[in-house]
Amino acid sequence: MSNARVHAGCLACELADGRRPLPGGRVAEHGGWVVEHAVGPLGVGTLVVKPVRHVLHVADLDESESAALGPLLRRVSAAVTELVRPEQVYVCLWSHAGGEPGHIHFVVQPVRRADMERFDAFGPALQGAMFAEDERPDPAAVEEFCARVRPLLGSAQDEVMSSYRLPDGSAK
Ligand SMILES: [Zn+2]
Repeated sequence: MSNARVHAGCLACELADGRRPLPGGRVAEHGGWVVEHAVGPLGVGTLVVKPVRHVLHVADLDESESAALGPLLRRVSAAVTELVRPEQVYVCLWSHAGGEPGHIHFVVQPVRRADMERFDAFGPALQGAMFAEDERPDPAAVEEFCARVRPLLGSAQDEVMSSYRLPDGSAK
C-alpha cells in the first residue's frame, strides 16, 4: 500500500499508510480522518483521531475536515465509553513532539479510576506520568480492543467506503 499523501519521515503518515506496524490496524475512516489505536503509553483503549492529510495546525483543516471532526470525536468518545466505562474520556491534541509542530492527532483516552490510583494523578499530570513510565500497550490486547471497537464505529466506515477516492481518482 502506498500513498502519495505520505509525508516523508512523519510517524502519523507512515502508521496510517501501513509503512510502520500498527497493532489493531485502522479502526475507522470518515470525512478525511482516520481512527487508530494509540501506539504510545496511554493504556489500552486510547484511540487517535487524525487527518489523512499531513496537517500540522488545526487552523489548516479544510471545511469538510472541520465539519466531520466534531461528530467523529463524539462518536469515538462514545465508543470507548461503552467498552471501557471510564471515569472520564480525555480528548486532547498536543502534536508537538520535540517542540516541533507535527501531524495533528487528537488523543481520545478513557481514564479509569485504577489509572488515577496507580499513578496518583489525573489530567495532564496523569499523561505525563504515563509517558514517564513508557509502558507500551500489549499488542494482543490492542488487537482485541480494536476488534471490539470497530463495529461500534462501523457506520462511519460505511459512509467513507461509498465516498472515498484513491489519489488517482478511482473509487476504493
Ligand atoms: Zn504526516
